[in-house]
Amino acid sequence: MNVLVIGGGGREHALCQALARSPRLSRLWCAPGNAGIAAVATCLADVDATDTEAVLGACQAHAIDLVVVGPEAPLVTGLVDRLRAAGFAAFGPTAEAARLEGSKGYMKDLLAEAQVPTAAYGRFTKATAAKTWIRAQGGRPLVVKADGLAAGKGVILCDTEAEALAAVDTMMTDRAFGEAGDAVVVEERLPGEEASVFALCDGTTAVWMGAAQDHKRLGEGDTGPNTGGMGAYSPAPIVDPAMATRVMDEIIQPTVDTMAARGTPFQGVLFGGLMIDAGQPKVLEFNVRFGDPECQVLMARLDSDLLELLEAAAHGRLADIDPPRWRDQVALVVVMAARGYPGAYAKGSEIRGLTAAGVIDGVSVLHAGTRPGPDGAVLANGGRVLGITATGDSVAKARDRAHAAIDLIDWPEGFCRRDIGWRALARTGTPAPA
Ligand code: AMP
Repeated sequence: MNVLVIGGGGREHALCQALARSPRLSRLWCAPGNAGIAAVATCLADVDATDTEAVLGACQAHAIDLVVVGPEAPLVTGLVDRLRAAGFAAFGPTAEAARLEGSKGYMKDLLAEAQVPTAAYGRFTKATAAKTWIRAQGGRPLVVKADGLAAGKGVILCDTEAEALAAVDTMMTDRAFGEAGDAVVVEERLPGEEASVFALCDGTTAVWMGAAQDHKRLGEGDTGPNTGGMGAYSPAPIVDPAMATRVMDEIIQPTVDTMAARGTPFQGVLFGGLMIDAGQPKVLEFNVRFGDPECQVLMARLDSDLLELLEAAAHGRLADIDPPRWRDQVALVVVMAARGYPGAYAKGSEIRGLTAAGVIDGVSVLHAGTRPGPDGAVLANGGRVLGITATGDSVAKARDRAHAAIDLIDWPEGFCRRDIGWRALARTGTPAPA
């Protein structure tokens, strides 16, 4: 099979590495790709992931048999619909199904219809109505969310009623998140521990694709501003096999069934951001693709042929093949970012020592934001630049390997958190992977 992966981050590097292991693969392409992906795929650097016609042209030019879409933006704008209409098989949801991520209000209403546990909420297009609802909540902690995609930033956690009222003004009156905030969801603030769960879906069948926990905050001890994610590990100790079964039965399958009943079947990766409290999982959000950096740790543990799984999902045949198998190992990724991230940062600094870091046993150096420079140099080309992924028979072992690799990377313009996995390390014992 000729496969085209859409995207150019650490997630796509991890997907490309896993696809490259498949005996079914003939040629692998990636648009636009990056300097690391270029080692396993032919990169189409001038094809932008959101340029539907350019992607279609690449499919025709290279006789692509399966397109795997990594990021959310092209899904939400209908890349998969367009590819299918042109006769190309694609892994990922249609624009309508991608509204599970693209509109928080759509997602909450779907959860209500599917009777999936989630925070109590209201959905508003007028600031006055949102404020009336907030004033009726008795001052309990609330969360105000922009309805549309806001690059992970459109969520304001509020401790007081005054903060919630101000958050509505920020989004709906000041339009701090542009049109994403023209509609808002206001919901109760849930206590508990967060985990990310993943399921592969083919429209009717869903199979468990692993769990992870990530570190969204910039600073050690989970402090400072939110980022796209500074590290992650899998399995998530809080998602033991019994919890995984509950998540599939109470959350994933009812969602897939309700999407199918609506005539908008969900095909692709359903990524649930959960809050788990006293053994009860509730949905905070859905994403409609793999997480980044979570994908990097899931792929490090996957023991099945990824291409067979994605092809089966794209063709509605997941029930006909074996479910994914997982290596009995912990995987942990530490993100290296450019100084200044998540604010302004410089591009173009050279990163040295990558080869030495990558040959450490159990380590894979994944590129998130890099581009090739002259004479084989690798240059920083983004905010999150590298994902140092390591496996081991414990969280501590995986972390130590990742740190050993980081110590060999010579990049003064970069930084990372040294405490990724602290929550899992603080627990006693290493639970069985789910
Ligand atoms: P979201 O993009 O909806 O997942 O929100 C981003 C982050 O805000 C989540 O990862 C949680 O840390 C936090 N969050 C969102 N909704 C809630 C909620 N209802 N209760 C508590 N924390 C929340």
